[in-house]
Amino acid sequence: MPRPARSLAAPLALAGLLALLTAGCSGGRSSDPGPPAPTIAVPAGGPQTTVYDAAVSHPREDTVYPDVGDPTVDALYYGLDLTWQPRPQLLTASETLLFRATRSGNAFRLDLSHQLFVRHVWLDGQPVSFQHTAKDLVVEHAVDPGSRHVLQLVYAGTPEPVTAPTDRPDFSTTGWTVARDGTVWTMQEPYGAYSWYAANDQPSDKAYYDATIHAPQGQVGVFNGALRSRTTSHGMTTARWHLPEPASSYLITVAIGHFTETRDTGPHGLPITYWTPADRPGILRQLRYAPRAVAYLEGLLGRYPFPTFGVLVVPSNSAMETQSTLTLGSRTGYTVSRDVLVHEIAHQWYGDSVTPDDWSDLWMSEGMATYLAEASWTASHGNVGRAAILRRWAALAGAARQAYGPPARYHPDSFGEGNVYYIPALMWDTLRQRLGDQEFWALVRRWPATHRFTSQNRDTLAAWWSRASGQDLRPFFHSWLWGHHEPPWRGR
Ligand SMILES: [Zn+2]
Repeated sequence: MPRPARSLAAPLALAGLLALLTAGCSGGRSSDPGPPAPTIAVPAGGPQTTVYDAAVSHPREDTVYPDVGDPTVDALYYGLDLTWQPRPQLLTASETLLFRATRSGNAFRLDLSHQLFVRHVWLDGQPVSFQHTAKDLVVEHAVDPGSRHVLQLVYAGTPEPVTAPTDRPDFSTTGWTVARDGTVWTMQEPYGAYSWYAANDQPSDKAYYDATIHAPQGQVGVFNGALRSRTTSHGMTTARWHLPEPASSYLITVAIGHFTETRDTGPHGLPITYWTPADRPGILRQLRYAPRAVAYLEGLLGRYPFPTFGVLVVPSNSAMETQSTLTLGSRTGYTVSRDVLVHEIAHQWYGDSVTPDDWSDLWMSEGMATYLAEASWTASHGNVGRAAILRRWAALAGAARQAYGPPARYHPDSFGEGNVYYIPALMWDTLRQRLGDQEFWALVRRWPATHRFTSQNRDTLAAWWSRASGQDLRPFFHSWLWGHHEPPWRGR
């Protein structure tokens, strides 16, 4: 997500499902045999398959937003089948989730908005009891640590966005968002994936994804990763997508609308696809900078971490580093600018490949993306020099720390404010001065290479930098990230 701009200056078809509902809570009983489990997207090999083992995570309870996510669940694979009818704004879906239980329990929970009415749930092919209250889908079945299961559900409803825990002017809600013309887009940081599918919606849990999206003819459903096929029949266009590396739920994107698909090629033959509004050719021309942006960042960070790259442009005021396919808002010039393009591509190393495992460590993503995009790229390509950029951050950092708290201890209602951008960016520059350019840049490059496709945190990061540099840097990180006073920064 780009830094907050202001910190620079200051169903009608649902009758059958509705019958299941009771006020405020829905549930199913195991005594109701229901229909046979859907046959869609059951991973070959069933629950014991090892194909998705690279998605084994260490899920944790979030310290900032503990109500979202369940550390009992380690999702390995989501298979989503989504059908969107713009009128009457009805999402009909089936989902297959392969997961590993991390501990014993009599039940486990997924996040799923109550706007979506769950018709049936099966666990390992058998109907299972569940309760769906507010955004908590609780499956009432005992699990053992290390056991693997396939959960399947069918649901439908009119999704609504989720209120975002921030006063940022560029977004006030997250998740499934319907434009006036019935088209759909999503941005879902720090949570909000649960507005459209049952997710363990916390960043420590990475999983693989397949998605099949059925959209009205003339529109197309766009998702992260590689487009496997796109076909049209009976008035619907069906797009099948595969995301070949594990991703956290906040880094998933889906949009359904009238997009023009344009292919391009990046460094080493990297396939690039732009999904842009047909009536905004200027935006497409601007995004054509992407191959050079990827090449620039590869020069600093090493090989781009994913097999495909894409940019999806949606009617939003913000932008997101969604994995391997960025989601950029078309409503401001800033969110489709080269600066933001470079920032969101930098996140593919710092944010997507290596992800904070707790929302208190958002600074890990934003500080480095800000540093790379502005102190490096803007300073060498724009008309503002590096020293001026660093001085501007220094001028803003103290006020941001006072207003929103230290970067690693921000108030839960102040998600994504200037403190998690400017302060850690200055911190990285101070560390560069301390270690010297050669060692600093070597380690900036080695961190994502060593930790690719994992979630990390302040402790693992400080320990790794200390080991790699041969200096105990834990007090350094501590004072910048937790302290109430701004550490000294000397521009050089
Ligand atoms: Zn960002």
